[in-house]
Amino acid sequence: MEQEYASLHFDAKQEGLLSLEGFFLTHASFAGAQENDDGTVTFYIPHSEWNVDFEQSLHAFCREYPDVEFLGTETIEDRNWNAEWEATITPVQATRDLVITPSWKMEDAKKLGAKHIITIDPKMSFGTGHHETTRLCLAAMEELAMDGRAVLDIGTGSGVLAMYALLRGAKQAVGIDTDLWAIENAIENRALNNFSERQFEIRQGTMDEVVKEEKFDVILANLHRNLLLSTVGQMQTHATDGAYVILSGILCYDASEVRAAYEKVNFKFIRELNENEWTALVFQLCA
Ligand code: SAH
Repeated sequence: MEQEYASLHFDAKQEGLLSLEGFFLTHASFAGAQENDDGTVTFYIPHSEWNVDFEQSLHAFCREYPDVEFLGTETIEDRNWNAEWEATITPVQATRDLVITPSWKMEDAKKLGAKHIITIDPKMSFGTGHHETTRLCLAAMEELAMDGRAVLDIGTGSGVLAMYALLRGAKQAVGIDTDLWAIENAIENRALNNFSERQFEIRQGTMDEVVKEEKFDVILANLHRNLLLSTVGQMQTHATDGAYVILSGILCYDASEVRAAYEKVNFKFIRELNENEWTALVFQLCA
């Protein structure tokens, strides 16, 4: 199954590069990024998202960040470009208790001595533990009891959050994602980590489409500001009384707005975690 991608090339370093990553996370369904030998960086997004609105937002972003220079775009037809990037992925100590590793680096991963190891063979989906937004979510999960809980992971990507919940004792996890590649990767990773289809159910679609009458004790959502704001009602519908909701993918300067929107509908704010320009928020639904 092939999908066309747009590759967008930039000259961006350090702060500029971090902001650019933030831009792609908040404006596109994240596809991938690659640093090139000549020091430039290339981001990949589904070609269907490369439209006039996106282009205008990108130009506005570049005006705001003069140290980011947009060099141009081209269309590519498959994902082979990703192979090189896959090979460079190393085990990552994602939190105190968790190491995430590609299967071919398992021996190195074991040497890190973490309590839990999750195997993720990175493909085009997000969730290798190399990004702050994933790590913040995992760190927030580590502070909460998961024993016997039913978990919903919205935007499951590689499936990493759902699988961590299961490792920490959750009784069942449902991972949903709109992106077919993410779904395929989550299915692969589920098998790699020896979880059954019943323990970790994977569904393609939005909450509206694939989560019907069910309620969950823990909801994990590493998405982006707009989606977190627009789904607050659904989060409430699908949360049991006392359920924990962990939101990530929020840029620090959007955190107070997202927090206010959730507090308005009976979610009690529990804590906030930060890494670089990213924030994760933890709430509990008041009975
Ligand atoms: N949970 C992983 C991946 C987060 S990236 C982690 O924490 O690392 C966000 C994911 O959300 C992407 O895989 C994207 O395809 C998915 N996504 C975007 N919009 C969505 C929507 N409306 N419903 C479900 N998934 C969505």
